[in-house]
Amino acid sequence: MEKQSVITTREELERYFALTEDEKQWFAYHGDTLPFLISRYFIDLIDPSDPNDPLRKQVVPSIRETHMTGREHSDPLLEVSHSVFPRLIHRYANRVAFLVTDRCATYCRHCFRRRFTASGCTHVSHRELEQVAEYVEQHTEVKEMLITGGDPLTLSDTRLETIISILRKARPDLVLRLCTRMPATLPDRITGKLATMLKTYSGTAIFVMTQFNHPREITPASRKALARFVDAGLPVMNQTVLLRGVNDNVGTLEELMNLLVANRVKPYYLFQGDLVGGTGHLRVPLEHGLALEGQLRSRLSGLAMPVYAIDLPEGGGKVPLGARYLQGRDTDGAWIFHTPSGGRRTYPDPEGEN
Ligand SMILES: *Cc1c(COP(=O)(O)O)cnc(C)c1O
Ligand code: SF4
Repeated sequence: MEKQSVITTREELERYFALTEDEKQWFAYHGDTLPFLISRYFIDLIDPSDPNDPLRKQVVPSIRETHMTGREHSDPLLEVSHSVFPRLIHRYANRVAFLVTDRCATYCRHCFRRRFTASGCTHVSHRELEQVAEYVEQHTEVKEMLITGGDPLTLSDTRLETIISILRKARPDLVLRLCTRMPATLPDRITGKLATMLKTYSGTAIFVMTQFNHPREITPASRKALARFVDAGLPVMNQTVLLRGVNDNVGTLEELMNLLVANRVKPYYLFQGDLVGGTGHLRVPLEHGLALEGQLRSRLSGLAMPVYAIDLPEGGGKVPLGARYLQGRDTDGAWIFHTPSGGRRTYPDPEGEN
């Protein structure tokens, strides 16, 4: 039988590999969780003989998604209460997130925006787009906009170009970030035609923000997709989600970050998992994350090192995490540091400035 370009049912999935008990139970459960959809491209990257394959864990649902702990929420970052329109989140004074679609090429089981993802609102309408353009035109304190979702590359090139050109017209200076997981989940979507369209805007700041979580996601096809963005003049940055059983060891993360840099992608954030309901089985204890950050820092260059960060619950905002090198001051007022190798150094302030 002909294989589909997307896999959306248990029957289709079982043509690739046998399901585990936890996976079978999810398909038997008919409650309200993120829908199941995997691109044919991504499923072909999964090792069918390994039930613990790190790529499989990101995309094949498990009954553990229906387990909620008391501290978890559907919206831990309070995005809804920080929304000026249903699709526009204004949580930080100088930047906004515009949710142009709820669709993705593959749904990630760790998705932190699952209150919105695949919720049925589909693509942004022209009226909503004009409202958002007017908002950023009036709010000049907004310096950056994340074009996100869902995955904005589920829109056609034409729709995407309309969005960019209307925003550009409203705010020529606005820094745009095109946030997409498609270089990892459907790299053929990054066509020469898309790159040519984006290139016409490359004299203005449009950053591409990708999400690669494991070195095996970097394939010849995804390298080509990344090269198309960079060659079109768009800087590319990557955000990795720290995930249990996927990338929670130093060797995997080190390899991933070095591969990204080799493909001209700057590792930007390594995210601690948000307290989103149904993702607890994929979160890593913070203490382990901190240890990984320390080990990574000693193995990676500054260029290859992402910022380990947490988006604090109840809309507290993003804050960096990591080893504290600055320890305090000595009796002369000089700053005391720990060195990464366990030594101690002091650094005095300039004289006569107290
Ligand atoms: C993460 C996020 C941003 C961008 O934060 P940076 O630290 O600048 O990357 C902006 N708006 C919202 C709502 C966010 O969640
Ligand atoms: S691509 Fe992004 S928005 Fe879509 S399911 Fe994955 S994490 Fe969520």
